[in-house]
Amino acid sequence: MSLQIVCPICHINNTVEDSTVGRYVQCSSCPNRFYVEAPTLADIEESKTGSSGINMSHNLKAIQQLISESDRKVSKTALILHNQVFLLRVVVVLQAAICLLLMLLVFWR
Ligand SMILES: [Zn+2]
Repeated sequence: MSLQIVCPICHINNTVEDSTVGRYVQCSSCPNRFYVEAPTLADIEESKTGSSGINMSHNLKAIQQLISESDRKVSKTALILHNQVFLLRVVVVLQAAICLLLMLLVFWR
C-alpha cells in the first residue's frame, strides 16, 4: 500500500510506500525532507471510498496546488516588476547624469 503525502513546503503530492511511515523522505520536487506520519482513520476511510462522492481531501489538495501555482505566478510577476523598477531607476540615473553633463557643458562656456 502506498500513501499520498503533500509536501509541507511545495505542496506537491508525493506517493510514498507505507514502509516509510515514521521516517523522513525526500520530496519528489523540492529539496525538502518531511516526516511520514502513520495514516489516520480518516485517511483509511478516504482510500476505501476512493473517488466516489465529494472527496474533501482531494479538493483540499487541488486548492493547495492552485495556491502554490498562483504563488509561483505572483513571485514571477514580482520578479518582472522588480526588474522593471530596476531598469527604470537605471534610466532615471542615466538621464540625471546626462542632464548634469549638459548643464556643466553649457555653464562652462
Ligand atoms: Zn516539496
